[in-house]
Amino acid sequence: MTTKHWYNGSCHCRTVRFRAHLDIHSGTSKCNCTFCWKQRNWNVGGLKLADFELLAGAEFLSTYGRKTEAFEISHKFCSKCGTQTHGDGYLEEMGGAFVSVRVAALDDLSVENLVCAPITYCDGRGDNWWNPPEDIRHL
Ligand SMILES: [Zn+2]
Ligand SMILES: [Zn+2]
Repeated sequence: MTTKHWYNGSCHCRTVRFRAHLDIHSGTSKCNCTFCWKQRNWNVGGLKLADFELLAGAEFLSTYGRKTEAFEISHKFCSKCGTQTHGDGYLEEMGGAFVSVRVAALDDLSVENLVCAPITYCDGRGDNWWNPPEDIRHL
Protein backbone atom coordinates (compact mmCIF):
# COMPACT_ATOMS: atom_id res chain seq x y z
CA MET A 1 0.00 0.00 0.00
CA THR A 2 1.39 3.37 -0.90
CA THR A 3 0.65 6.36 1.24
CA LYS A 4 1.52 9.31 -0.90
CA HIS A 5 1.63 12.61 0.82
CA TRP A 6 2.17 16.17 -0.43
CA TYR A 7 5.44 17.48 1.00
CA ASN A 8 6.48 21.11 0.87
CA GLY A 9 10.01 21.84 -0.22
CA SER A 10 12.25 24.84 -0.71
CA CYS A 11 15.80 26.03 -1.26
CA HIS A 12 17.76 27.49 1.65
CA CYS A 13 16.77 31.13 0.99
CA ARG A 14 13.16 30.05 0.28
CA THR A 15 13.01 31.83 -3.07
CA VAL A 16 12.33 28.50 -4.78
CA ARG A 17 9.36 26.65 -3.33
CA PHE A 18 7.64 23.51 -4.52
CA ARG A 19 5.47 20.66 -3.40
CA ALA A 20 5.85 17.00 -4.27
CA HIS A 21 3.46 14.09 -3.95
CA LEU A 22 5.39 11.02 -2.90
CA ASP A 23 5.63 8.06 -0.57
CA ILE A 24 8.97 8.28 1.22
CA HIS A 25 8.61 4.63 2.28
CA SER A 26 8.56 3.49 -1.33
CA GLY A 27 12.22 4.39 -1.52
CA THR A 28 15.00 6.90 -1.97
CA SER A 29 18.22 6.64 -3.91
CA LYS A 30 21.88 7.46 -3.62
CA CYS A 31 24.45 7.10 -6.36
CA ASN A 32 28.24 7.07 -6.59
CA CYS A 33 28.63 8.93 -9.90
CA THR A 34 30.88 11.98 -9.92
CA PHE A 35 27.94 14.39 -9.92
CA CYS A 36 26.09 12.76 -7.02
CA TRP A 37 29.32 12.45 -5.08
CA LYS A 38 30.08 16.17 -5.32
CA GLN A 39 26.48 17.08 -4.47
CA ARG A 40 25.95 14.54 -1.68
CA ASN A 41 22.87 13.70 -3.69
CA TRP A 42 20.05 11.87 -1.94
CA ASN A 43 16.86 11.69 -3.96
CA VAL A 44 13.37 10.49 -4.25
CA GLY A 45 13.27 9.76 -7.95
CA GLY A 46 10.79 8.56 -10.48
CA LEU A 47 7.98 10.99 -9.66
CA LYS A 48 5.44 11.59 -12.40
CA LEU A 49 5.22 15.16 -13.66
CA ALA A 50 1.77 15.52 -12.05
CA ASP A 51 3.31 14.76 -8.65
CA PHE A 52 5.51 17.85 -8.67
CA GLU A 53 4.43 21.47 -8.57
CA LEU A 54 6.77 24.45 -8.61
CA LEU A 55 5.12 27.10 -6.42
CA ALA A 56 7.60 29.99 -6.55
CA GLY A 57 10.99 31.05 -7.83
CA ALA A 58 10.92 29.68 -11.37
CA GLU A 59 12.81 32.75 -12.60
CA PHE A 60 15.63 32.08 -10.11
CA LEU A 61 16.11 28.42 -10.98
CA SER A 62 19.32 27.58 -12.74
CA THR A 63 19.86 24.36 -14.59
CA TYR A 64 22.74 21.97 -14.92
CA GLY A 65 21.94 19.51 -17.63
CA ARG A 66 23.55 16.15 -18.05
CA LYS A 67 23.13 13.66 -20.81
CA THR A 68 24.79 10.27 -20.88
CA GLU A 69 24.19 7.15 -22.92
CA ALA A 70 21.90 5.95 -20.15
CA PHE A 71 19.79 8.97 -19.30
CA GLU A 72 19.08 12.65 -19.63
CA ILE A 73 18.51 14.86 -16.61
CA SER A 74 18.35 18.55 -15.88
CA HIS A 75 19.34 19.37 -12.29
CA LYS A 76 17.74 22.51 -10.87
CA PHE A 77 19.20 24.79 -8.26
CA CYS A 78 18.45 28.20 -6.81
CA SER A 79 20.70 30.85 -8.39
CA LYS A 80 20.58 32.94 -5.18
CA CYS A 81 21.58 30.37 -2.55
CA GLY A 82 22.83 27.44 -4.65
CA THR A 83 20.58 24.80 -3.08
CA GLN A 84 19.68 21.91 -5.36
CA THR A 85 15.94 21.31 -5.16
CA HIS A 86 15.01 18.83 -7.89
CA GLY A 87 15.70 17.59 -11.35
CA ASP A 88 13.71 16.45 -14.30
CA GLY A 89 14.60 14.10 -17.03
CA TYR A 90 13.66 11.34 -19.34
CA LEU A 91 14.46 7.66 -19.03
CA GLU A 92 12.61 4.83 -20.78
CA GLU A 93 13.30 2.45 -17.87
CA MET A 94 11.51 4.84 -15.51
CA GLY A 95 8.46 5.20 -17.72
CA GLY A 96 9.58 8.28 -19.62
CA ALA A 97 9.47 11.78 -18.16
CA PHE A 98 10.17 11.98 -14.43
CA VAL A 99 11.01 14.37 -11.63
CA SER A 100 13.46 13.62 -8.89
CA VAL A 101 13.40 15.57 -5.63
CA ARG A 102 16.24 16.17 -3.16
CA VAL A 103 15.23 14.79 0.21
CA ALA A 104 17.18 17.61 1.88
CA ALA A 105 14.93 20.19 0.18
CA LEU A 106 11.76 18.72 1.73
CA ASP A 107 10.77 20.92 4.67
CA ASP A 108 8.10 18.84 6.33
CA LEU A 109 9.71 15.44 6.05
CA SER A 110 10.66 14.37 9.56
CA VAL A 111 14.05 12.85 10.31
CA GLU A 112 12.26 9.74 11.68
CA ASN A 113 10.49 9.23 8.36
CA LEU A 114 13.61 9.92 6.34
CA VAL A 115 15.83 7.46 8.20
CA CYS A 116 13.16 4.73 7.90
CA ALA A 117 12.96 5.15 4.12
CA PRO A 118 14.65 2.40 2.12
CA ILE A 119 17.67 3.47 0.07
CA THR A 120 18.54 2.05 -3.33
CA TYR A 121 22.22 2.48 -4.19
CA CYS A 122 23.23 2.94 -7.83
CA ASP A 123 26.64 2.37 -9.34
CA GLY A 124 26.51 5.40 -11.62
CA ARG A 125 30.28 5.73 -11.66
CA GLY A 126 30.56 2.26 -13.17
CA ASP A 127 27.75 3.04 -15.65
CA ASN A 128 25.95 0.20 -13.92
CA TRP A 129 22.91 2.16 -12.74
CA TRP A 130 20.69 -0.76 -11.87
CA ASN A 131 23.13 -2.35 -9.41
CA PRO A 132 24.72 -1.12 -6.20
CA PRO A 133 28.41 -0.13 -6.12
CA GLU A 134 30.89 -2.30 -4.25
CA ASP A 135 31.20 0.26 -1.47
CA ILE A 136 28.30 2.39 -0.22
CA ARG A 137 29.66 3.55 3.13
CA HIS A 138 30.71 6.94 1.75
CA LEU A 139 27.36 7.74 0.09
ZN1 LIG B 1 17.54 29.89 -2.70
ZN1 LIG C 1 24.66 9.86 -9.73
